[in-house]
Amino acid sequence: MSEQAGSLKPCRVVRTGPVSIGGGDLVVMAGPCAVEDEMTLWEAAHAVRAAGAVVLRGGAYKPRTSPKAFQGLGEPGLAMLKRVAVGTGLATVTEVLDTRDVERVAEHADILQIGSRNMQNTALLKEVGRIKKPVLLKRGMSATVEEWLLAAEYILEAGNPDVILCERGIRTFETATRNTLDLSAVSLLKELSGLPVVVDPSHGTGRRSLVAPMSRAAVAAGADGLIIEVHPYPKAAACDGPQSLTPEEFSRLMLQVRKIKEAMLLLK
Ligand code: PEP
Ligand code: MN
Repeated sequence: MSEQAGSLKPCRVVRTGPVSIGGGDLVVMAGPCAVEDEMTLWEAAHAVRAAGAVVLRGGAYKPRTSPKAFQGLGEPGLAMLKRVAVGTGLATVTEVLDTRDVERVAEHADILQIGSRNMQNTALLKEVGRIKKPVLLKRGMSATVEEWLLAAEYILEAGNPDVILCERGIRTFETATRNTLDLSAVSLLKELSGLPVVVDPSHGTGRRSLVAPMSRAAVAAGADGLIIEVHPYPKAAACDGPQSLTPEEFSRLMLQVRKIKEAMLLLK
């Protein structure tokens, strides 16, 4: 890892279908935390697409802290995600938790997510390094930037150049928010790495009210994209309702981040 403080590295452009991440456009990925049922997913997908998102998020395999919490629908959830995405013209991002599921998830999804809890699961990193689909690598909740970049290196060395880094907040002494969103890491990664950087203000804060301000700040810090939890009925969500935006809130936010992005382009 070479350090070039102050100079930005050219960004690798990661492509999936018509979506280019790191190519200059602000790419927004949005949808529910988990795939719950097909009706809710259709509703979420139509709403986020209408607001300008280009990638639908939704977990079929959920890495829950408690084994008693909803673990996701598994393979039927993957099939639902694919159906809804094809029907709405969106690309998809979904988490893979287990090396044994990588091939199956890659058959269904456009971007494979490695979650915070698996950032240093080297077997899983090597496995997604062998596929020909982009990987969204979330920062481990207690990982330094260096450890995160070394985790990315596992995927790159295994032969997959299409890695997207995702800042999703880290654990600090602060408990007022779910995590502490490290936006300095976004700008730092632009100096240290040539990989696109996406910010997750939903897990980064855990609070619906903070998602919009942190999204705006992330774009101003140079993020190539955002991944945001949106649910048509947050109170009824199977997981992460308190940090999920309603479709109305999301569509308002999209107008704001577009303006920030335009202002950023004027600075160049
Ligand atoms: C998620 O994106 O739903 C998720 C579980 O994220 P993280 O791995 O960042 O906690
Ligand atoms: Mn979630």
